[in-house]
This record gives sequence, structure tokens and C-alpha cells, in this order.
Amino acid sequence: MSTYRERAHRQTARASVLRAIASRERSSHLSAPRVPTVGIDIGGTKVMAGVVDADGAILERVRTETPEKSKSPKVVEDTIAELVLDLSDRHDVHAVGIGAAGWVDAQRSTVLFAPHLAWRNEPLRDALAARLAVPIMVDNDANTAAWGEWRFGAGRGADHLVMITLGTGIGGGILETGKVKRGAYGVAGEFGHMQVVPAGHRCPCGNRGCWEQYSSGNALVREARELAAADSPVAHHILERVQGQIGDITGPLITELAREGDPMCVELLQDIGRWLGVGIANLAAALDPARFVVGGGVSDADELLIGPAREAFRRQLTGRGYRPEATIVRAALGADAGMVGAADLARLVARRFRRANRRRAERAQSPAFELRLTPRGRAGER
Ligand SMILES: [Zn+2]
Repeated sequence: MSTYRERAHRQTARASVLRAIASRERSSHLSAPRVPTVGIDIGGTKVMAGVVDADGAILERVRTETPEKSKSPKVVEDTIAELVLDLSDRHDVHAVGIGAAGWVDAQRSTVLFAPHLAWRNEPLRDALAARLAVPIMVDNDANTAAWGEWRFGAGRGADHLVMITLGTGIGGGILETGKVKRGAYGVAGEFGHMQVVPAGHRCPCGNRGCWEQYSSGNALVREARELAAADSPVAHHILERVQGQIGDITGPLITELAREGDPMCVELLQDIGRWLGVGIANLAAALDPARFVVGGGVSDADELLIGPAREAFRRQLTGRGYRPEATIVRAALGADAGMVGAADLARLVARRFRRANRRRAERAQSPAFELRLTPRGRAGER
């Protein structure tokens, strides 16, 4: 049993670590070393890694498939290490930032849970730090996307910002005074599971009526397939396009047909957009940001989605007419936001003048001295 004093001491130490991270982040992007870093975005289907410079430009990118959920956490770590080592063959890498589709603890070292991976309380940062001789930063992918958009994309200049990513579900990130708000335990911003319809559609999370059951890529595809399965006259055009294969109806196809003016697809995007606006009004009531940035695959529909969202937001916003209204804009960095943001957050922990240090070390040591990223045993050796 730990004494009260020990517990209090630990809590104080932890609080001061969190404060240090927060204050470093708030202002230090201005003073972070202008060195290239690697950003990694680990999603449900693919892992994307890129070398990103201090202005957010991607110097090189590589990608691979996300290992099966059934594979051990080590397989995912091998994948990450291989991508970093590959990039470091051609670039001087000063730090690695990882945006993972999962819950990351407030210390940004442990992935508590990842729906698409085998990670359960996985100490990802330390596992990778043991293999790659550079500082590692781990964060939730929506947080890194919010940071990327704030620094280099549609969020520039808005220090109070909420990022909403509409993919298969809804991801969320909150920035306040230019700082990522992670909550006490690191899992703030899980907007997708706010209940908007009591006893509504069942959600894989176990509840009913979650926001992402009404405003996401999955919701869009579900509604289109339902209409197609009912052989509704409004679905005849899309059924023709997929030659009757209802399973072939996808979000990108619905967006494409909506752009061509297909009335059913336009309406489905309007519905998704209206639900988006309703949820955004709720978030405005709670968080009062200046700007909402909407990203993720569904945001490719642009005004077909965001137009209806703005209308619903204005109708729903509490205190409308007596408060400045937040703007709702489409994300600018597309699918790169999470990767670019992860790389930029990693820059805050990058070692300065690593190259100079290495040269000095190389001169001091034998010619064979090698301080580059070294794997401690390649895949399969451990
Ligand atoms: Zn849910």
C-alpha cells in the first residue's frame, strides 16, 4: 500500500509533467528546431509515413497496409520501425510523431485502446524508443490532424478550434489557445459517441443513437444501401451504376453521383450534413470555438455536405443572434493532416543539431561508428 504522501507526490509529479508538455506545446512550435521529422498516421486500413519539414511540406512519403487486428502489437511496431528506417536511409530524421486511431493516455506514451489494432494498454512510445534512437511522440490521430490543420491548413489563425473528421466514424480534436486539449485521461474529443437520438441506430460501441450513426461515411453508405435494397425508385440510378451489386455502393461513389446531380445522393449528403450541423451546434454550446474544421473522407463532398451543415448549425445554435458564430470550413490538408500534424508535434521533442552532434561523434569515434537509427534486432529476430 502506498501512503497518502507517496500518492500525493506521484500526482504532483504527474501534474507537473503534464503542465510541462502543455506549456512546451503552447508556444514552442515557434522555437522548435526547424528540422525534418517523420509523421506516421496509423489508420484502420493503412499506415502512412512521411518526412515533413518545418513548413509542413512533405519531402517523401511511404505507405503500407495496417497489419491485421489479429496480429500481435509487435507486428505493428515492426511495421512502424521498418517505415522509419526506410525513410531514414535518405533523410536525417530528428524525431518521430505517431497519430494513432485509438485512445492515447495523457502522458502520450501508452495506447489505451485501438478499435482496429491489437493494442490494449500498449506502451507504444517506450517500445519504439527502445528500437529507434530518436525521440518518439504518440497521440490520437484526430488530435494530430487538428494540430496539422491549425499549423498549416484550414485552421490557421484560429487558436480556438475544433476538428471533426468524418470517416467511417467521427473523430474529434480540440485546440484551445493553440494547445491540444486531451482531457484528464487523454481521451477528450470522442464526439462520435455523443447520443443525439435516444433509442436510435445501434452503434458498435454498444449504445444506441450515437452521433456517428447519423453523420459519417458509414451512415451515408448504410442509408444508400437501405434505399437500394428496398428497390426504391430514387435508387435506380445508383443501382445501375453498381449493376445491382448493393455491396459495391461506397461513400466516394455517392459523392461522385451527388456531384453529377443525382437527387438521392444529394439528399443523402444533405441528411448527413444536417446531422453534422446539429452536432456542431452542441459542440459550440459546450466549447465555443471560433472555427470548426471538417475533414475525413466524407468532407470530399465539400459544399454538398458543409452547406447543409451550416444551415442546421444556425438553426440549432443556442443564443443565436446574440453571440458571434463560429465558422465551419472544410479541412485543407486532406488525408495528410494527421501525418503532417504528428510530424510537427514531434518537432517539439526533436533533438536540436543532431546532425552536428553526429558528425562530432563520428570524428571522435572509429570510422565505423554509426549513430543513425539502429534497429535492435530486425523483424523476426526477437
Ligand atoms: Zn457509439
